[in-house]
Amino acid sequence: MQENEKKVLLRIEDVKQYFPVKKTRFREKQRYVKANDGISMDIYEGETFGLVGESGCGKSTFGRTILQLYPQTHGAIRYQKDGEWIDLKAQDKESMRNLRRELQIIFQDPYSSLNPRMTVGQIIGEGLVSHGLFKRGDAGLKDYIVEIMEECGLPGYLFGRYPHQFSGGQRQRIGIARSLALHPRFVVCDEAVSALDVSIQSQILNLLRDLKEKENLTYLFITHDLSVVKYISDRIGVMYLGNMVEVSETEELFKNTMHPYTEALLSAIPTTDADDRKKERILLEGDIPSPVNPPSGCKFHTRCRYCQEICRQQTPELKDVGNGHRVACHFPLGKTEK
Ligand code: SF4
Repeated sequence: MQENEKKVLLRIEDVKQYFPVKKTRFREKQRYVKANDGISMDIYEGETFGLVGESGCGKSTFGRTILQLYPQTHGAIRYQKDGEWIDLKAQDKESMRNLRRELQIIFQDPYSSLNPRMTVGQIIGEGLVSHGLFKRGDAGLKDYIVEIMEECGLPGYLFGRYPHQFSGGQRQRIGIARSLALHPRFVVCDEAVSALDVSIQSQILNLLRDLKEKENLTYLFITHDLSVVKYISDRIGVMYLGNMVEVSETEELFKNTMHPYTEALLSAIPTTDADDRKKERILLEGDIPSPVNPPSGCKFHTRCRYCQEICRQQTPELKDVGNGHRVACHFPLGKTEK
């Protein structure tokens, strides 16, 4: 499908999310953690958009900001519904509550996001009742919950069990069933498989893929694991210190990597392929700098092995270099002699 034929579900325009840092006796000037620092992008209906980057780069904040769990400091997030554009930040509490049924999240740690005093049936039923899809005690409610549980690979007879009676993978299935029972259109999967063993990870990834096809869902799939994102995503965005540094279709990103940060992340993926093993592993030196006081110019310049003088002074724009492949670098790999 051509880029211009795709239907945009969410349009994100120059979104900034700044959190104030507590003032101290020694620092009276108000400072901010710049968790998201001017992100613009579209998310297309029916795609899985993978978002990768090291911990602390602002990925989770971005997912939560889209859902208005934190209203953005600056910019706009528009959601397209029935041909109309809805500015999410401009919604009052009640309209946002109604929209939340369509805009869901699946968390990393299924255990802490499930109420230990509620049974699986109650956990899944709670959202259905609060969004008015069923009334408490409705005859069809239990049948519907059992149907959703089975669709998510949980036998229906476990309806009355409590979260602690399940394994980690099963608890993640409960979290998925709770979100999908509401028939959302868009789901943020926030490190949804990161806490699971590798064999369970692939089962949950396959479940998410199957459900996406069946329900025509759109995912924002947040992870620090590039192998996971390669497996599940149609497009990938690479984030560094609150900015998107490279965005592309998945195959293109792996074949034709253009940002030095993406190159370093890809070189660290463990591989069994003999040719890939011969490739140089690029070590990213130092920690990710502070988002309170990020480096000038290109924020990656303090760790980039291709850094030149201009990189310290001028911030590179995220530019389209063809076929929807966008990169924010003064010297994209494969495009310029360094
Ligand atoms: Fe490296 Fe310069 Fe590109 Fe930044 S702009 S990623 S410092 S080459």
